[in-house]
Amino acid sequence: MAETIYDVAIIGGGPAGYTAAIRAAQYGLKVALIEKDSKLGGTCLHWGCIPTKAILFNAEIWDHLKHAKEYGIDGVGEVTVNWPEVLKRKNAIVTKHAKGLDFLMRKNKVTVVSGHGRLTGPATSGVHTVEVSAGNGDKATVSEVKTKNVILATGSDAKMLPGLQADSTILTNMEILHIDRVPKSLIVIGAGAVGVEFASIFRSFGSEVTIVEYLPRLVPVEDEDISKELARLYRKRGIDINVGAKVEKVEKTGTGVKVTFTSSEGNTEVKEAEKVLVAVGRAPRTENVSLDKTKIKLERGFIPTDQWMETAEPGVYAIGDIVAGMPQLAHVGAMCGMVVAAHLAGKYARPVNRNRIPGCTYTEPQIASVGLTEAQAKEKGYNVKVGKFPFTGNSKASIVDSHDGFLKIVTDSKHGEILGVHIIGPSATELIAEAVTAIELEATLEEMMFTIHAHPTLAEGLLDAYGSVEGMAINA
Ligand SMILES: Cc1cc2nc3c(=O)[nH]c(=O)nc-3n(C[C@H](O)[C@H](O)[C@H](O)COP(=O)(O)OP(=O)(O)OC[C@H]3O[C@@H](n4cnc5c(N)ncnc54)[C@H](O)[C@@H]3O)c2cc1C
Repeated sequence: MAETIYDVAIIGGGPAGYTAAIRAAQYGLKVALIEKDSKLGGTCLHWGCIPTKAILFNAEIWDHLKHAKEYGIDGVGEVTVNWPEVLKRKNAIVTKHAKGLDFLMRKNKVTVVSGHGRLTGPATSGVHTVEVSAGNGDKATVSEVKTKNVILATGSDAKMLPGLQADSTILTNMEILHIDRVPKSLIVIGAGAVGVEFASIFRSFGSEVTIVEYLPRLVPVEDEDISKELARLYRKRGIDINVGAKVEKVEKTGTGVKVTFTSSEGNTEVKEAEKVLVAVGRAPRTENVSLDKTKIKLERGFIPTDQWMETAEPGVYAIGDIVAGMPQLAHVGAMCGMVVAAHLAGKYARPVNRNRIPGCTYTEPQIASVGLTEAQAKEKGYNVKVGKFPFTGNSKASIVDSHDGFLKIVTDSKHGEILGVHIIGPSATELIAEAVTAIELEATLEEMMFTIHAHPTLAEGLLDAYGSVEGMAINA
């Protein structure tokens, strides 16, 4: 029988890889998806987006139950967290969606190849050979996949501070999902999305939480006003915040862990806790695919690509957390996968525009943004005009008892272009979809001010926020 030559072979079955596989198959391409783990889904499904948001939902319910009396619901009594049940529910959700991915592969006739994939060098007569070996790549080659194109989608690993190793006290996003009970106290090193999300979850469940962040503010990639509001609300929730703080030492004690850091004022400070979560970023997994056999030159570990995600090696593409200059987010990897699939199939495609990527942080309160911050817009020389509307003026926010936060719109006064939208408050991560669409379709401020928003909704807050740019919010 003639050897199968695939149109595209994808190495890595996380959200970037599996989305590329499905979309390429939908276009009629012959697709192989190579995954080294026993289940598809990658970091996002097993250790990231889905498990954390599942647990955040438990925390949200818990927060509501604490206020049951205020909502006129009697008889709830004293509520306690059953942590093993929280984890069980999380595991059930993850398993359900992992099975869903297996189904989608069968449905779309994607061949799933189990094992560790690596490149063998440039294509010969237009055909690449991907070597697949068992385990983590340390075992003998078990098969070879012949393909016209390769997409690398190998994802990332949690970074560790130098000299530290993760265990049951020093945790990354993986170990923390295995702890056997809610810790009495937790130090979170790093206040990016992952750090502040876990801080929020465990504070809701009653842990004493301390955040230590090197940069001068929480969620440093967000608009400064958002960082300030989050810090204010976290302090109100009793979270100890230390920004501009340089960690000097992390030591285990008999009962937990001790973190020594230099504070923003230059003082040496020591905090102790039962556990420490290290959330200092993600390192691209680009060491394990034999890139040395290609023309690809890494940029600080990341793979540079062109607008169609093609690397310096013809016929080899890269998507997801390994791509230089792209935010490490599941939806970015997935969209890059869809772009490559369309490009390879010769169908309409448009490159991912960095300024149109939503960023969401699923804390309490939620944060979501798209486009330029006020500072970035000023730096780029726009005639910046900003509007801000507080959730206190929104009736649905009263109904859902969530008044903290605001919606901020950054515009260019010349043509009314919407440059950025920044939200902190209830359902921010859902509300941002409207702003992404508006920016994607290049809607002007005037157009959005005359777009009908249903009443009473949190989305109406956006209508007021657009109006506030012209000093014409109705409800403030
Ligand atoms: C705690 C946490 C929460 C997060 N929450 C969110 C969120 O809410 N929203 C969001 O958008 N993003 C979130 N992220 C980020 C998101 O998880 C990543 O951006 C996303 O998983 C990247 O997708 P990927 O496909 O590039 O890589 P991954 O998901 O890491 O998948 C890569 C896959 O490739 C496989 N692989 C690697 N090397 C090989 C090889 N040589 N051969 C075969 N297989 C290989 C791996 O086993 C893995 O299955 C979160 C991350 C963390 C850590």
